[in-house]
Amino acid sequence: MSKNIFEHSSPGRKGVALPPRDTDIFLDKIIPQKYHRQKSARLPEVSELEVMRHYIELSHKNHFIEKGLYPLGSCTMKYNPKIHETLVRHTCFANLHPYQPESTMQGALELLYELQKDLAEISGMAAVTLQPAAGAQGEFTGIKIIEAYHKSKGNTHKTKIIIPDSAHGTNPATCHLVGFDVVELKSDAQGRCDIARLRELVDENTAGFMLTNPNTLGLFETHVEEISEIMHSVDALIYMDGANMNALMGIVQPGKIGFDIIHYNVHKTLSTPHGGGGPGAGPVGVVEKLIPFLPVPMVAKNEDCYYLDYAHQETSIGKVHTFYGNFAVLVRAYIYIKMLGAEGLRRVSENAIINANYLMAIIKDYYHIQHLEYCMHEFVADGTWQKKANGVSTLDIAKRLLDKGFHAPTVYFPLIIPEAMMIEPTETESLASLNAFATAMIEIAQEAKENPGLLHDAPLTTPVRRVDDVRAVKHLDPIFKIEE
Ligand SMILES: *Cc1c(COP(=O)(O)O)cnc(C)c1O
Repeated sequence: MSKNIFEHSSPGRKGVALPPRDTDIFLDKIIPQKYHRQKSARLPEVSELEVMRHYIELSHKNHFIEKGLYPLGSCTMKYNPKIHETLVRHTCFANLHPYQPESTMQGALELLYELQKDLAEISGMAAVTLQPAAGAQGEFTGIKIIEAYHKSKGNTHKTKIIIPDSAHGTNPATCHLVGFDVVELKSDAQGRCDIARLRELVDENTAGFMLTNPNTLGLFETHVEEISEIMHSVDALIYMDGANMNALMGIVQPGKIGFDIIHYNVHKTLSTPHGGGGPGAGPVGVVEKLIPFLPVPMVAKNEDCYYLDYAHQETSIGKVHTFYGNFAVLVRAYIYIKMLGAEGLRRVSENAIINANYLMAIIKDYYHIQHLEYCMHEFVADGTWQKKANGVSTLDIAKRLLDKGFHAPTVYFPLIIPEAMMIEPTETESLASLNAFATAMIEIAQEAKENPGLLHDAPLTTPVRRVDDVRAVKHLDPIFKIEE
């Protein structure tokens, strides 16, 4: 265990020089006597260097992308270029105020305008709103647009949205929140939407269909055009959860293959650090006929300036975020897109796909993989061989990875694969780091055979062993207590 900061303390050491205290004003006039401290606070007495060493040491006990591969992928933490952080902190962005007159923030509006255009281009959609602050809020915006579309036509009987069983949990949650009934579509033997079953489920009451593509098995849903035809035949809309655009940029434009609405996860695909649940952005793109329902304002341009456009306020679903969205996240996305360009974005996706397939080709000999065809940016292996033969679970395997210097992949998701391990290396990993990860996985498969007890006990090298994650979530106690 590391020392805590008090154990580094030594009387008289200092890391700061505070100005003399103005006791009269501060203590006697503002804070009543009875609240005055009787005893000095117990604070660690440490030098600046000791503080730095302490926290740097602690930070290394955690896993982070600059320390090693993170098989959770773009979903959680792909590498985010540092130039974003330098540029977004520039005073010309940091000192802006959203209430400034438009004439004084032409640069910021130009950036948002360009980003709307680029995201429309990448997705093949007619227009994009930048307002939603997360993927889930993008979904909410998109499903509200589906609701508004049907309402505008007087179609109040359209109450159902169909969602495959491989979907991310936010999809059914969103539809429920907006007030739709969710109908589940089973995946077929190939891990894709079962089209025959879909035809049975669709009727006049169907309002829409929500599809993640590539789906959560890392497989491209090949029947989009057919699904789109089925949906449009009953005037239902087809929504694409675009959280996995990491695999499609420059290769497929969802708007061109039949989708009506898409959300991006800017903080995943277009790179913003988002540990601990934020910050994010979930822009939503729509086809021409749905533009009137987009949130207002949009950023527009006339001959001589950029401006905030409220033109379709009457038909809009309204605002979904204060001002214009999560500006600093959008700035990072803009930089990412402009630095890479069209060619670069396509290479991001190609490399994400090649890296995942390379890993899968090695790992398939050691772990069961249900869908053994080429994957997109991720694949789902599982621990069922190890479970059956050696009594080792996916959780054991994941914990053992920590001992070998890697973060664990997403485990037990998607729910349709027992003992699932969803592995997404992302585009930025080199051949050497992919090989190192594959070697660790192979070693673990070996250990499962030879010494399963070791895996039950893992992790052995981390500062804390197996934590009770459920208790940590339900009874979170972040207060640091010192034993007196
Ligand atoms: C991450 C993710 C979401 C939710 O996005 P948030 O930004 O976390 O709200 C939705 N769908 C899929 C497929 C995702 O991976």
